[in-house]
Amino acid sequence: MTEAWALDQDGQLAVGPVRVRVPAKINLHLGVGPLRPDGYHELHTVYHAVSLYDEITARAGDALTLTMQGEGVGEIELDDRNLVIRAARALAAAAKVEPKARLHLRKQIPIAAGLAGGSADAAATLVACDSLWDTGFSRADLADIAATLGSDVPFLLYGGTALGTGRGETVNPVLARATRWHWVIAFSAGGLSTPDVYRELDRLRASGKGGAPLGSTDGLLAALRQRDPAALGAVLGNDLQAAAVSLMPQLETTLQSGRDAGAHAALVSGSGPTCVFLADDEAHAGEIADAVREHGDCREVQLAHGPVPGARVG
Ligand code: ATP
Repeated sequence: MTEAWALDQDGQLAVGPVRVRVPAKINLHLGVGPLRPDGYHELHTVYHAVSLYDEITARAGDALTLTMQGEGVGEIELDDRNLVIRAARALAAAAKVEPKARLHLRKQIPIAAGLAGGSADAAATLVACDSLWDTGFSRADLADIAATLGSDVPFLLYGGTALGTGRGETVNPVLARATRWHWVIAFSAGGLSTPDVYRELDRLRASGKGGAPLGSTDGLLAALRQRDPAALGAVLGNDLQAAAVSLMPQLETTLQSGRDAGAHAALVSGSGPTCVFLADDEAHAGEIADAVREHGDCREVQLAHGPVPGARVG
């Protein structure tokens, strides 16, 4: 329990701070169907939460305010355009409480990176403000609010490994053995806009390029029940990869550097440009990371493992 009661500067009873940690996601499978009449693509995806975290701290306050440190400072707005503020307002409206909180975001997940950092922050805010305001909502209630904020937000409440359908907002946990998978994550200099990547995929597909769409997730779900990174690596896939590489050709250099270093898979995460590599174990991940740092065209390389839980107080 992190909640603490104390008197604030005015001698009033103050609650907090509530600290919530939330992971980034990668997609082990990202199958993109045709464009729907509502402008979204039908998705078939397997989300996987990895040990790269943002953190939201919520304190009682007289108004709704947001400060931040870390990745993306100066690049994202801290007003109503920020998913943190939008999540707090959505929760307050659903709970019929005044949206009053002092929120602070400590960001390690790069922005516009295909790691769903903004969605992660929204999920963390829902959990933090839910605790601060004592709304009594269940995780399922929070997931309903989460789905109104973005397709990836419900998954980041739950974490783990899960199947996402619809726009990605319908989430079902995947039954898998308790295996810790080891990943290398390579951040690119600069981001990619998710809508731009989908548009590029539509363009490539219209001209007969873009590659054959991924098939079912059956092979992946079977591999997740084994403990063999080679078997898992063989069935990972991302329909958006060709489009991300088309917009940022240097990603191919990064992907190849990991393949050359013996990664079981090298793929773009979500809409990119982050690249992820599957390793045997932590030592192997360290070797791949060194090679990608040296030969890959990227800004930073980190080790991570998954699956990890979603947004949690603590
Ligand atoms: P996804 O994989 O869900 O498409 P992403 O990882 O590519 O997302 P995000 O970091 O989630 O990208 O951010 C996408 C855009 O959302 C940013 O360019 C920014 O304009 C906006 N945004 C709003 N709030 C946030 C936030 N708290 N953190 C990051 N981006 C935010």
